[in-house]
Amino acid sequence: MIHAIKSFFLVEFLKAHWLTLKYFFKPKATINYPYEKNPISPRFRGEHALRRYPNGEERCIACKLCEAVCPAQAITIEAQPRDDGSRRTTRYDIDMTKCIYCGLCQEACPVDAIVEGPNFEFSTETREELIYDKSKLLENGDKWERALAANLAADAPYR
Ligand code: SF4
Ligand code: SF4
Repeated sequence: MIHAIKSFFLVEFLKAHWLTLKYFFKPKATINYPYEKNPISPRFRGEHALRRYPNGEERCIACKLCEAVCPAQAITIEAQPRDDGSRRTTRYDIDMTKCIYCGLCQEACPVDAIVEGPNFEFSTETREELIYDKSKLLENGDKWERALAANLAADAPYR
């Protein structure tokens, strides 16, 4: 009886060590974030940005489709015609505390002005910092334009 118990524990001991060795040499399933990051899809819905054309002009034409389609009512736009007759926003706010990152604003925009970029590291210490105004959104667009344009181009064949 004692011999049988000893054999059982020996087998279990060897099985456990075999399992450890098996996974010891396999690739790691985890990464050392934030020093390492996993690749993300071009369709990733991260922080919002307002884009410009290469000549610096704002893309947004104040059509308000994004504001109308937003299910969270997170977008507030005010607009006025310019002297040249073109229409531009005088106010473009997104309340990021309301946003559900559905991507509908980006889908609705006829000129690829409002987009959700690859940045997911924009946590803040106060709620106020998550009320984005037009200058903050344009600043994001300027900062991320290269990645935003590349992502839109990669996704274009599927839209
Ligand atoms: S991602 Fe969705 S919820 Fe967020 S601002 Fe755009 S439309 Fe609104
Ligand atoms: S961001 Fe696009 S959808 Fe929204 S008001 Fe500007 S042009 Fe229209």
